[in-house]
Amino acid sequence: MNRQFDYIIAGAGGAGLSLLMRILDEPTLLRKKILLIDRGPKTANDRTWCFWEKGNGYFEETVYRRWDKLRVKHPKGNINLSMNGYSYKMIRSVDFYQHCFERIRNAGSRVQLVYGSVTEIKDDTGEVTVDGFTYQGGIVFSSILLAPPQLKPTQHYLLQHFRGWWIETAQDSFDPDTADLMDFRVPQEHGCTFVYVMPLSPKKALVEYTLFSEKELDSEQYDSGLKNYIQQNLGLDSYSIKEVENGVIPMTNYRFPGKQGKVIFLGTAGGQTKASTGYTFSNMQKHAAALVRGLVLNNPQLLAGSNSSRFLLYDSILLRVLKEAKMPGADVLFSIFKRNRASTVFRFLDNDSEWYEEAGIMIKAPWRVFTSAAIAEIM
Ligand SMILES: Cc1cc2nc3c(=O)[nH]c(=O)nc-3n(C[C@H](O)[C@H](O)[C@H](O)COP(=O)(O)OP(=O)(O)OC[C@H]3O[C@@H](n4cnc5c(N)ncnc54)[C@H](O)[C@@H]3O)c2cc1C
Repeated sequence: MNRQFDYIIAGAGGAGLSLLMRILDEPTLLRKKILLIDRGPKTANDRTWCFWEKGNGYFEETVYRRWDKLRVKHPKGNINLSMNGYSYKMIRSVDFYQHCFERIRNAGSRVQLVYGSVTEIKDDTGEVTVDGFTYQGGIVFSSILLAPPQLKPTQHYLLQHFRGWWIETAQDSFDPDTADLMDFRVPQEHGCTFVYVMPLSPKKALVEYTLFSEKELDSEQYDSGLKNYIQQNLGLDSYSIKEVENGVIPMTNYRFPGKQGKVIFLGTAGGQTKASTGYTFSNMQKHAAALVRGLVLNNPQLLAGSNSSRFLLYDSILLRVLKEAKMPGADVLFSIFKRNRASTVFRFLDNDSEWYEEAGIMIKAPWRVFTSAAIAEIM
């Protein structure tokens, strides 16, 4: 194999494949030789991506389910979110990988695939070492974190950690039209805890027990959290567990580098995970689209990318509020959804809102905790 490529994409996960699909779409990049590297074939359903979106998105044909009605539940009451054209969508990674690899096969020799472990990426030369072999790229797009982030003492690092069960019941038990984005009616002893309920049919749902905290739980604690919720909140004693999903997503205001020399970082490794929520899928799509525009226009600014410092500050404030827990995280998040239109909150969390919408959210937030967190972040 010739080991020189225009682009090397290190990591064939959500971010690497989102970028590659858009590169393949772009007629002006038709002659570019691309190398895609991952540890092995992507055939497992290793994650479920959920995200809100207006209209049809780039990966619409891989969407497994969508909901136009969402709820947030809390001991103080339930909120039916005003969606204003947003839908909440679910993509199973297995469908996403299948879709992308079919397109890669159709692209022929333009895209070479190497399976192996990346051990080194040199940003000055664009050399990538995979199991002792070296490949060279004009640009390397990497979603691989070869070393953990080195945090400054002032930076926060929480985890969004969860276990989801795909459950099935013999009798009709769910309303497939309405999903629960966050149900806070669960014990909060381990930090901000909530459950997602994504009904797929009257008899099937994905139920995900989720925490925002500094440490993961023991395996049995996720199981008992799920079991108790399903029994006490969903009123189900009998069901079968069809699949299990575990996940840990970093929630940090650490500044991941966007670009270093010939390397452009993607996905979680490129700071595309929203620090205050863990949501990444939508950001990866926006980033991939901007990168392809940068490649077509040969625009270094688009290739360097940068997250708005205004939104980084909001994330830092929210992370501090969650970490310090002067007010329970469940109450903080519930109050944000209760006092604002969901569509405004979605735009805010997507870093798409206008300053006056952000000011509105801030003014209506529990001011004591937010003011002290904001002062601590700014000082
Ligand atoms: C279980 C789970 C559920 C999630 N659900 C959501 C959700 O609902 N909504 C949302 O917005 N976000 C969600 N996320 C967060 C985020 O969207 C995903 O983590 C997303 O997959 C990030 O994309 P990525 O390309 O950065 O990482 P990945 O998809 O993990 O891709 C990285 C790729 O690099 C490969 N790789 C890593 N190291 C090496 C190496 N040394 N050599 C070779 N290959 C390597 C891996 O095999 C992998 O294929 C979830 C995350 C998890 C873990």
